[in-house]
Amino acid sequence: MKTIIEPFRIKTVEPIKMTSESERRRLIERAGYNTFKLAAEDVIIDLLTDSGTSAMSAAQWGALMQGDESYAGARSWYRFESAVKGIFGFDYVVPTHQGRAAERILFSVLVKPGHVVPSNTHFDTTAANIEFAGGKAVDLPSPLAKDSSSRDPFKGDMDTERLEELIKEVGPERIPVIMVTVTNNSGGGQPVSMANIREISRIAHAHGIPFYIDACRFAENAYFIKLREPGYADKTPRQIAREMFSYADGATMSAKKDALANIGGFLVTNDAELAARERSLLIITEGFPTYGGLAGRDLEAIAVGLEEVLQEDYLNYRVVSTAYVADKLDQAGVPVMLPAGGHAVYLDARRFLPHIEPLQYPGQALAVELYVEGGVRGVEIGTVMFGKDPQTGKEKPAHWDLLRLAIPRRVYTQSHMDYVIEVVQAVFERRAGIRGMRIVSEPQFLRHFTAEFAWLD
Ligand SMILES: *Cc1c(COP(=O)(O)O)cnc(C)c1O
Repeated sequence: MKTIIEPFRIKTVEPIKMTSESERRRLIERAGYNTFKLAAEDVIIDLLTDSGTSAMSAAQWGALMQGDESYAGARSWYRFESAVKGIFGFDYVVPTHQGRAAERILFSVLVKPGHVVPSNTHFDTTAANIEFAGGKAVDLPSPLAKDSSSRDPFKGDMDTERLEELIKEVGPERIPVIMVTVTNNSGGGQPVSMANIREISRIAHAHGIPFYIDACRFAENAYFIKLREPGYADKTPRQIAREMFSYADGATMSAKKDALANIGGFLVTNDAELAARERSLLIITEGFPTYGGLAGRDLEAIAVGLEEVLQEDYLNYRVVSTAYVADKLDQAGVPVMLPAGGHAVYLDARRFLPHIEPLQYPGQALAVELYVEGGVRGVEIGTVMFGKDPQTGKEKPAHWDLLRLAIPRRVYTQSHMDYVIEVVQAVFERRAGIRGMRIVSEPQFLRHFTAEFAWLD
């Protein structure tokens, strides 16, 4: 059959509260025109993030009841550890309450002031944790990532020529670890090829530097390799994931993404001495090494989710349903980032609203209009998020102005997505009348979460 269906039936439903356009105008004004400040209940389709928003399966809910809440050596811990080892293939597993806790522990152990940590593109919490430990986070994205309309299959790759230059420039002794984020979240959810992972690993090991994978969306990345990279069509996503991890010395993971759970994370390594140091820190901030910051039932949900996320029917539905939205919008002439990544659709707000200067926040204006038009909540990734230097207070346009529509896993059906497409098109048709915005109030750090805005005249 040509039609690809959601490979699940719905057993439990959560009603959506409908609102009218005039109610939404009032609600967004009251929220200071910041989508983070809306109550979730006032949103019709919530595409703010794919983090921790997955729908769990009946098997996961069943596993929750089997959670063993023993403090040490719980049955749920062994089940979790065996699921993680079976897929990731590392000797030591350190559980944490979410991904950034794994990053905090890893970089506290590895990074010293003056160190440099390269990546294809660091996620914001990863960069923040490296910098908190006194290091510098450096992004080396593929030059192809700049062009939002190019359909290159692996726009998430790292620029390995620049990696070699950087190692020469700063010296391998100042690089405690090289990372790659799969898929490249901050770079549009684009996948990283196996060839690139192999090459980064080769370069890292030639200089005696450990190589780590930020594995949050490892299953989506494995499936893109299967679809797009020669030689992988007949391999299973699990085999491909195992090969990806075989080139690395360790990984950090947020279970809120590709473990189909609502909370959780972990850190893995083959280095016994490093694992011992990580566990000492874990005990101080997260908990005993057989539960990290998690309840036994959370460990159960993650163990089941890690198996479910590698099922091909699930992954096919996941990438096809995301591409469906991006391709439909592209066909309607709406500027979107192509090809679609795994977890989100990105509208190019600068091309969508060319009459609005970057310093008048076209991405924010678009976020507000999508909410007003149809109650769809996305998030600006652009000059509001990255345009201000917190040290100097100076403001300049970010590299791009995007509006991200992140798609929660197994939550919305195709008719929900048809609705989203209609909402975006309706805003696109009246784009010439949309005004820019200004900031009314903002905090010093991470201003996008709490800033308040107003329309320009
Ligand atoms: C979400 C995310 C993290 C951090 O994980 P949390 O569970 O949110 O702390 C790190 N890296 C990437 C690529 C992510 O998407």
